[in-house]
Amino acid sequence: IGRHPTQNQGPAPVAGVDRIIAVGSGKGGVGKSTVATNLAVAMAREGRRVGLLDADIYGPSIPRMMGKEDRPKSPDGERIEPLHAHGVTFMSIGLMLEDNKPVIWRGPMLMGALQQLLGQTNWGELDTLIVDLPPGTGDVQLTLCQRFHLTGAVVVSTPQDVALLDARKALSMFETLKTPVLGLIENMSTYICPNCGHEAHLFGHGGVAAEAERLGLPFLAALPIDLDTRLAGDSGTPVAAGEGAMAESYRRLARRFID
Ligand code: ADP
Repeated sequence: IGRHPTQNQGPAPVAGVDRIIAVGSGKGGVGKSTVATNLAVAMAREGRRVGLLDADIYGPSIPRMMGKEDRPKSPDGERIEPLHAHGVTFMSIGLMLEDNKPVIWRGPMLMGALQQLLGQTNWGELDTLIVDLPPGTGDVQLTLCQRFHLTGAVVVSTPQDVALLDARKALSMFETLKTPVLGLIENMSTYICPNCGHEAHLFGHGGVAAEAERLGLPFLAALPIDLDTRLAGDSGTPVAAGEGAMAESYRRLARRFID
C-alpha cells in the first residue's frame, strides 16, 4: 500500500512457464547461443515443452540457427506470437530490430524490451524456457535475474584461460544476484581430427571441469569442436535435431535438466 506499483516487487513469474533457465558466458564466441539452441532442441526431443528466448542484444543469432527469421506478429497489438521450429517455441530480440542497426539502448529501454519479450510473448504452456543471455555481466543479466524468477543459470566457457577468467566474473555475478548456478559446460573442449583421429586441445584442457570442482558446481558436459555443429548452426537445423554423436551428447545434457 502506498508503493509505486513497479517498485519493490519481488521477481515475477512468466505466465504458463514452469521454470526459466538462463545460459550465460563471460565472453562472446564461446558457443553460448549454440549450446542454448541445441539444449532447447534436445529437450524438446526428450518430450518436453520448451521455449527459447534470444536475449543476446549484441548478436542475436538464434533465428538463423533455428532457420526462421520472420518478424513475429501481434494480431491484437498486445500479445506477440512467437515462432516455432524443431519442436521449440522461440522468440528473439533480433526479430524486433531493424536490419543491421546496432543496438545502442540505454538500460531502461533494454529493461522494457526484455520485459515485453518475456511477458507479452504468447509462450503457451512450457516446462522450461531457456534464455540465451548476452555475454558478460551487464544490464540484461541484471534485469532478468532481479525482475524474473529464474530457476537458475548455466555458464558456458571454452577451456581457454581468458574465457575462464571471464566465466568466473559471470559466475560471481550470478552469486551476487542470488541466481543459483546449475552447472558449467565446456564447449570447444577438444578437436578430433576427422582424418587420423588425433585429439588436440586447441583451447587448453580440463580448465572448466577444474573450475566446477573448485566451486562445488556440477560439470554438465564437455562438447568438442565439431564441424557439423558449426555447419548445422549456419544452415538453420541445429545438430541436436539430427542423429549422431553430437545429437546424442545434447540429449544426454538435456536429460540432466529433466527429472
Ligand atoms: P556465442 O553465443 O558464445 O557468441 P555462438 O554460439 O554464436 O557463440 O558460436 C560462435 C561460433 O562458433 C558459431 O559460428 C558456432 O557455429 C561456432 N561453434 C559453437 N560451438 C561450436 C562447436 N562445439 N564446434 C564448432 N563450432 C562451434
